[in-house]
Amino acid sequence: MSIDSLNLVERSVVLWHLQVCMATFYTQNYPKETSKRKPYQSMQFTDTVYCSHEKLNVFTISAPLRYFDNLTTIQLEDNQLTWLPGELWHLPRLQKLNIGRNALAELPADIGLLVGLKELYVHENQLVTLPSQIGQLVHLGVLDLTNNTAISFLPGEITCLSPSLRRLWIEGTSLLASRTDTNSTWLSQQRKVPSLFNLCAQQAGSSFDSISSKNTGLPLSLLYLLMSEIDPLNDTVTATSQTGGNRMDLGRTSSLVRRCSMCQSILYYRGIPLLEPHGQFGGQSLPLLYHVCSQTCKNRWLHGTK
Ligand SMILES: [Zn+2]
Repeated sequence: MSIDSLNLVERSVVLWHLQVCMATFYTQNYPKETSKRKPYQSMQFTDTVYCSHEKLNVFTISAPLRYFDNLTTIQLEDNQLTWLPGELWHLPRLQKLNIGRNALAELPADIGLLVGLKELYVHENQLVTLPSQIGQLVHLGVLDLTNNTAISFLPGEITCLSPSLRRLWIEGTSLLASRTDTNSTWLSQQRKVPSLFNLCAQQAGSSFDSISSKNTGLPLSLLYLLMSEIDPLNDTVTATSQTGGNRMDLGRTSSLVRRCSMCQSILYYRGIPLLEPHGQFGGQSLPLLYHVCSQTCKNRWLHGTK
């Protein structure tokens, strides 16, 4: 949290509802125990809420989301936000989200739930990459990644946006770094890290081949091992395994789990990451990162039979 070190003031905005939709802005001095937050501005909104340029440290939504059914645009540009509330990704009608010029280090997988999103502005943050679920935003027409200097690759799923995406801004990222730089770093990393899949495959023997398709004889302990590899930040999987059966019930979040870029089977672990240094996307040649489930899919990918 980047509290203004000189003034030691936290600034926040709360979206709430009392007959109409309201956004109320607060300041609060530190230490919090001795000070109460003071509202300094309040405004009514229907389809657009404008919270830009307010030096906000905190953005919260504190009303049932059904009250914000008409909300299509959220402007949060140029604040000091380091995180965003989970409710934000459950606004079904949201079409335009501007969270540029903040201090965000990552976007959650749940961004894939905003299936109506048409414009996403995340410029001038501290992102390293995007979650693969970005590929589910099939109506996205504008994606602004400008000046996220650490972004050096994009998830391969971003190619799912090809039909809709009209504008992709990548100036000031590392996506356009010279091929040799990106390439050598990544390939050397991949060589160092042994694939978990291969380690598991050695333990499980021949029965392991079937994990990605009709999984039959896989030992449960191995499944747990694989499940434990799912990144808790990226994939909130609720694993209720059925010992007799062969399926994992992924519940409500099933649309958010990562899938194999080749065969689309659910990845119960990170998969084998594959960097395509020259993935063609939007007329540009960008480094794209794919995940595949198995050696078979890896070979298919390497031989270009996507
Ligand atoms: Zn696969």
